[in-house]
Amino acid sequence: MPRQPLLTFTDRGICCPEGDFHIDPWRPVPRALITHGHSDHARPGHGAYLATEGSAPVIRYRLGDIRLGTIAYGERRRIGGVTVSFHPAGHVPGSAQIRVERAGEVWVVSGDYKVAGDGLSEPFEPVACHCFISECTFGLPVFRWKPQAELAADLNRWWAANAAEGRVSIVGAYALGKAQRLMASADPSIGPILTHGAVEATTAVLRAQGLALPATTHVTPGIDGKTHPGALVIAPPSALGTAWAHRIGPAAEAFASGWMALRGVRRRRGLAQGFVMSDHADWEGLNTAIRATGAERIFVTHGYTAIFRRWLEDQGYEAGIVATEYEGESLDAAEAEPGPLIEAGGEEEAGAVQGGDAPG
Ligand SMILES: [Zn+2]
Ligand SMILES: [Zn+2]
Repeated sequence: MPRQPLLTFTDRGICCPEGDFHIDPWRPVPRALITHGHSDHARPGHGAYLATEGSAPVIRYRLGDIRLGTIAYGERRRIGGVTVSFHPAGHVPGSAQIRVERAGEVWVVSGDYKVAGDGLSEPFEPVACHCFISECTFGLPVFRWKPQAELAADLNRWWAANAAEGRVSIVGAYALGKAQRLMASADPSIGPILTHGAVEATTAVLRAQGLALPATTHVTPGIDGKTHPGALVIAPPSALGTAWAHRIGPAAEAFASGWMALRGVRRRRGLAQGFVMSDHADWEGLNTAIRATGAERIFVTHGYTAIFRRWLEDQGYEAGIVATEYEGESLDAAEAEPGPLIEAGGEEEAGAVQGGDAPG
């Protein structure tokens, strides 16, 4: 009897028939292996969850009382007829690629990843495989990120200039990953760091699991640009331009996102400043990661899939597109505010920028 492929693609998510589990499924399944805590990957309603020790606290914070088992990076675990292991994806703290092996055949699901170090997440680890299932959120040559040290210098220069002019600096960044990366990049000698509630809550979860992050003050009534002159304020993108932001006082606002590489996005949002900073791989990062796997077959899941598939085929790969419900990097959507779903009363509204601001 011919064997099924190691992983199959279903309307519930990426499925491993012989292990009887799904990876980052978007509809409820009995057993889910989860790459990381962003809401397009870690969804409610599954019977049981398995995630890395580093991503479990955020997943538990977001999804409440779930059956969640943990696994260390590199630990091999037998599930049904296959062996699985989780490996650093460099996307956000605790994020993983998932390796699945059966009789010497290896497939790897990347989840979201980036190759360059961000000073915070466990560095991306190339995993040799026969078939690599990759995101390609930023799969165009126009997307090229600066090294982390240069991004930090840009941020601090902008912050210091605003502080010198008596303004606070508000940066929009999603609450899990990028917000903490900004904090870790900020030079506390310039001024205090303030946070929006969604950012503060997620940061508290990460601090509790041992991440060293600078001191922050949650913006509550009575905390503003007068009590904290020249502050850097880190908030979800959706908070920019709102009454919440105006109350803090005279401010300069900026987004930190890979989409800031596109002038049209910056212009439509009326932003003087944007930091081209992403937790997804840029063009070079995608190509480096794919080459490093040694895989001959590549499936791309979300992003510029058609263009990127074509590019891979031109490079001699056997390439395919998988339809998924992952959202890539969003300015407004789910990744922005990973508050507890339970309290929020349901799923967040999705409005991925790919469908709106960015060219497809
Ligand atoms: Zn993500
Ligand atoms: Zn994602």
